[in-house]
Amino acid sequence: MEVLIGSEAIQGRVREIGRQIARDHPEGAPLLIGVLRGCVIFMADLMKCLPIPHEIDFISISSYESSSTSSGAPRLVKDIGRDIRGRDVIIVEDIVDTGHTLDFLRRTFLARGPASLKTVALLDKRSRRECNVPIEYVGFEIPDRFVVGYGLDFAERFRHLPYIAALSPEELIPTPAIRSAGVA
Ligand code: 5GP
Repeated sequence: MEVLIGSEAIQGRVREIGRQIARDHPEGAPLLIGVLRGCVIFMADLMKCLPIPHEIDFISISSYESSSTSSGAPRLVKDIGRDIRGRDVIIVEDIVDTGHTLDFLRRTFLARGPASLKTVALLDKRSRRECNVPIEYVGFEIPDRFVVGYGLDFAERFRHLPYIAALSPEELIPTPAIRSAGVA
């Protein structure tokens, strides 16, 4: 496992993004919508670095599950529980890869009439993009590697790591324990 972004670098960048979002929303009260489950640590840290009133909600969509390759078209698994009409909405993503998930989310939310819709993504694998989606706030652009840590998992492992690390191809082969748990 190779550490790509250390914990201090992440914390520093999250503080900067928080200040930037605050500057862009002088009236306050944006609604942050986190994309479960990879967003959880980023969302919590971002909230602590966001010095304006804001609300949060969460959405869950189908994604990579236990594989390291895209699982195809995104599907809404859990929706938010409120009306976003007239709200300043910010989608909080852990990572944007091909962009299909974000494109799906943007179309879903834009159809509900928010006052504005922006995205903050901690990581951006721009070289893999297939959909031309705008991302207003990007933490770090990263190379085409499968990464874990800081909320991101591989078969539900590694989310707790305080840094972002890239797994080698050998590490992406499921272990017997993971196989017998039925998640690979
Ligand atoms: P996209 O639709 O942009 O191809 O994929 C977005 C989703 O794929 C992310 O929200 C994340 O769940 C997953 N994903 C993409 N790349 C990685 C990666 O390198 N590591 C992990 N753990 N998940 C990834």
